[in-house]
Amino acid sequence: MTTEQATPRTRSRPLEVLIVGAGFGGIAAALELRRHGITEIKLLEAAPQVGGTWFYNSYPGAACDVPSHLYSYSFAQRRDWSRLCSPQAEILNYLQAVARTSGVAPLVQTSCRVRRCQFDETRSRWMVSTEGGETHEADVIILATGQLNRPSIPPLPGRELFAGHSFHSSRWDHDYALAGKRVAVVGTGASAVQFVPHVARQAAELTVFQRTANWMLPRRNRVYSPLVRRLIERLPWIQAIRRRWLFYYCESLTLAIRHPRTLGRAFGLRAKAFMHSQLPDAALRAKAMPDYAFGCKRVLFSSHYLPALALPNVELVTEPIAAVTERGIKTEDGQERGFDCIIWSTGFRASEFVAPMGVVGAGGKELSDVWRNGAHAHLGLTVPGFPSLFLMYGPNTNTSGGSIIFYLEAQAAYIRQALEHLRTGRFARVEVLAEVEAESDRATQERFAGTAWTGCDSWYLDGQGRNVANWPGYMREYLAATRAFDPAEYSFTG
Ligand code: NAP
Repeated sequence: MTTEQATPRTRSRPLEVLIVGAGFGGIAAALELRRHGITEIKLLEAAPQVGGTWFYNSYPGAACDVPSHLYSYSFAQRRDWSRLCSPQAEILNYLQAVARTSGVAPLVQTSCRVRRCQFDETRSRWMVSTEGGETHEADVIILATGQLNRPSIPPLPGRELFAGHSFHSSRWDHDYALAGKRVAVVGTGASAVQFVPHVARQAAELTVFQRTANWMLPRRNRVYSPLVRRLIERLPWIQAIRRRWLFYYCESLTLAIRHPRTLGRAFGLRAKAFMHSQLPDAALRAKAMPDYAFGCKRVLFSSHYLPALALPNVELVTEPIAAVTERGIKTEDGQERGFDCIIWSTGFRASEFVAPMGVVGAGGKELSDVWRNGAHAHLGLTVPGFPSLFLMYGPNTNTSGGSIIFYLEAQAAYIRQALEHLRTGRFARVEVLAEVEAESDRATQERFAGTAWTGCDSWYLDGQGRNVANWPGYMREYLAATRAFDPAEYSFTG
């Protein structure tokens, strides 16, 4: 710790904390701080409700492919989930109920999009302005805006010419009836595999444009029988054992990704056998089978997606898209297909993190400039030059195998420990040391070598091919790395 070390003394006024984003991350942070006596908290949320990604992603079939016994807060375990992987509405209700019952909900100001956060060096305060023209101030800001919140639609030539209807899968237009329509879905990632079987049942014709095939594993996700539900509800240890088992199952996925030549190959064979069984048609199978290392892109879980591709009203197109036309989509072989609706399931601008929000730190430094060559942060949480600013689900904290809730809880506890140092000390700012952050970034990047993550293009990589999204190891390693905030890695000033 580079400090003017002194005998700790209590601050003259309570520490004020502003959290941007009221999804799983922001709510976890608010809860953790309140539980430890930091109560001057405000959350600003762009959406009209608490929920983050679970508010926005309401496409048909939206669910979390991470089982709910794991994809839930450790301190708010529920034993009445309807099935293994809960649907979107159930997860949204869960998160909103946690926010309500914990007293965090009233601290959230919804429909409030933050435009800019600027550090005032003379006062050691963050000044936050919103699109609605409001200004807020705080000693500390926590940016919990998520990695997957800005829809990305590829800038294909002619996109503006399309005369039909179109929308992004994360902003589903529930007022548009797909029944009887000719529908195109562009993209075949985790979102598309969930809604394609539903769209296939409604649309007259469905054309799925696939750029890259995906590794798939089964997920039936039936509703729990009344007997199973009763057992889970009455015998709490069943829940605990399931959670633990799922934790290690997820860690085994990471193990496979970290060891692509051994366990990764075995997982690949398992996935291939499953896909083979789901796709009896050889031509369709050849199109849908990936040709890169298992786990390089996110592995997808569905027992319904591949059979949907074989339905008579569904076509899988692998010819690259050349342009969008007034009628529909033209592929590079010159074929034009007409559509009434195009659904862009083309992912998110994941590597831009907090953008388009402007963040200006000490010395007028713009965070977007600091991250010009790729986002980086110590443990995904702190950036030199940005005092008393914390990120949640920041750079290199995504998980390909595990539950993001584990990471968010770990981050919340780490931030709380940092703030306890501010609260009890005589300091106004806490800032990670530049050499600590540089070294942790170097070590993080080094750990990708030899893993499946380096074997293909994916949304984990930024424009320069640097993996800015994923934690390169196991959940347990991230928990260990963040368990104890180390004041020696930070400067305390002001
Ligand atoms: P995504 O995984 O990024 O998929 C985007 C899709 O669009 C890919 O198939 C991509 O092809 C395709 N694409 C992009 N640009 C294209 C172009 N110009 N032409 C043709 N195809 C194009 O997005 P997502 O499905 O929304 O999922 C994003 C992430 O959200 C997931 O990886 C996951 O972390 C999370 N998610 C989680 C769940 C869950 O159940 N837990 C559910 C949904 C989403 P390429 O592969 O060739 O790039």
